[in-house]
Amino acid sequence: MAGNTKVNEFMAMIIAKNQGETEFHQAVKEVVESLIPFLEENPEYQFSKILDRITEPERVIMFRVPWVDDQGEIQVNRGYRIEMNSAIGPYKGGLRFHPTVNLGILKFLAFEQVFKNSLTSLPLGGGKGGSDFDPKGKSDNEVMRFCQSFMTELQRHIGQNTDVPAGDIGVGGREIGFLFGQYKRIRNEFTGVLTGKGLQWGGSLIRPEATGYGAVYFAEEMLKTRGDSFKGKTVAVSGSGNVAQFAVEKVIALGGKVVTLSDSNGFIYDPDGIDAEKLSYVLDLKNTRRGRISEYAKKYNVAYTEGQRPWSVKCDVALPCATQNEIEKHEAEALVANGCVVVCEGANMPSTPEAVEVFLEARILYGPGKAANAGGVAVSGLEMTQNSMRLSWTREEVDARLQQIMKDIHGTCMKYGKDDSGFVNYVNGANIGGFIKVADSMMAQGFV
Ligand code: NDP
Repeated sequence: MAGNTKVNEFMAMIIAKNQGETEFHQAVKEVVESLIPFLEENPEYQFSKILDRITEPERVIMFRVPWVDDQGEIQVNRGYRIEMNSAIGPYKGGLRFHPTVNLGILKFLAFEQVFKNSLTSLPLGGGKGGSDFDPKGKSDNEVMRFCQSFMTELQRHIGQNTDVPAGDIGVGGREIGFLFGQYKRIRNEFTGVLTGKGLQWGGSLIRPEATGYGAVYFAEEMLKTRGDSFKGKTVAVSGSGNVAQFAVEKVIALGGKVVTLSDSNGFIYDPDGIDAEKLSYVLDLKNTRRGRISEYAKKYNVAYTEGQRPWSVKCDVALPCATQNEIEKHEAEALVANGCVVVCEGANMPSTPEAVEVFLEARILYGPGKAANAGGVAVSGLEMTQNSMRLSWTREEVDARLQQIMKDIHGTCMKYGKDDSGFVNYVNGANIGGFIKVADSMMAQGFV
């Protein structure tokens, strides 16, 4: 049967079984397209129905999260944890608090996480969770009450050897603190059940920086394959949260110039570049005052475009670091037409399938999120190791390990993604490279 027909047949089954979960369909289709030719050459995986099993979560937990707001009103949100695959280690993946969160979005994220975690070469299974709770505009006390209620249910499903959540959109140091406090209180144990913890209570140096730094290290590796580097490059970044902030910091350190940042309302364009002083303003604005990126434009007298994303700006490198499907086809075409030669994804699945096609056809360096943003979960894995050993590594040691892991992931993508013409399709490389270890482990463990 031709590859396309097989993909279509498999996707018809996935769509029928997981109705309305469009992001999950999108994530599965991308992986299946990469894998079908590989599976045809390796029929043992087909006999074991690995594809059917790897696309079905081991467990889905959904629960009510009641809490009381500052006005005394009872609020009810929905909590989730998707325990996708534990073939190579305990479930591991972030928690997202955002009003758009639903089952399909979390299943796409959990599915991607399985491959990403495998690529890090650490013993980490895949999971993801979160809630449709919106921390924006809530007081610290409201966020705390929500986190305590959320953890009161989640705690019975997680543990340092079972499932170890971390942060994601809307879940940063503040939320991890409240969640950890409630876990410890209920279970009466101090363990590494969450990562992204504060430094004084079990966190790892470089964890906050890891996803952004890692994405830039990955982009630098891609540039090296063409004898190039970040030095002198103009860089467009989207988002202004955790991943974006540290991506900007590392680009500056490597000699590049970042000219954009965004949030869900619009983007700023600073043609002089965001320097260290402006970046520290962004950190204060976003992490302490929890303000909007438009305030940057007022403070530094630069352009702010409401309701738009930054992809129309001329740049050499694009680092999408906000959310899924934030680069559509016309935006990908604009990037390529403006001379962009690298797209490296700090966010998860930020490019639509049509946008990915534009990048691959233009043969630019395109690094998909499951490879490029794996630095975050990699350092989470290192945080778990330090917790188990009851010691802390230095900043230099963690950063060196992160750099090595990103180099190794890049190497894996080259190994499985290079075609006969020498072009590296990092999508195929990441999907096949991430699949093999998980699939072989599933085969060894029987039909579970
Ligand atoms: P944050 O919550 O710290 O920041 C998210 C940023 O993206 C904010 O600027 C936010 O703007 C913007 N954003 C969120 N939703 C949307 C939307 N629907 N449209 C436009 N902009 C939006 O999250 P992170 O930086 O942690 O996460 C960013 C991306 O990186 C996500 O895709 C996440 O899954 C991925 N990622 C994160 C990792 C981590 O370690 N944190 C690890 C690997 C991947 P606003 O303030 O207006 O909401």
